[in-house]
Amino acid sequence: MEKQILVVDDSPTIRSSVSFCLRNAGYKVQEAKDGQDALDQLEEMKKNGEMPVLILTDINMPVMDGLTFISKVKETSFKYLPILVLTTESEKDVIAKGKKAGAAGWLIKPFHPEQLLWAIKKLIFTTAR
Ligand SMILES: [Mg+2]
Repeated sequence: MEKQILVVDDSPTIRSSVSFCLRNAGYKVQEAKDGQDALDQLEEMKKNGEMPVLILTDINMPVMDGLTFISKVKETSFKYLPILVLTTESEKDVIAKGKKAGAAGWLIKPFHPEQLLWAIKKLIFTTAR
């Protein structure tokens, strides 16, 4: 079965370039445009009995930002999913907050496909049940 990844970013350009890279690597991709949209989609996936293997999220987004989104995910049945952050945010404080909220990894944009795929593979492998 294809491994599914939820990609959360408010930029359609980032979403499509990241999705392109992930689909090329054989992953099934679902896209969300902000934290709230992503939570709604996770709820929908739960209803359909789907379980992504990883969440890739941006930090700076309207409606619900990435830090809030990460802490909300940790209150759901998806709390054990690895969450990888892909952001322009390189402030140590923000990274610390993200890690505290439950982010498993942190990549700074612009993303390099090989680096992204390696980080994803490593996180999925580490958290495989
Ligand atoms: Mg953004």
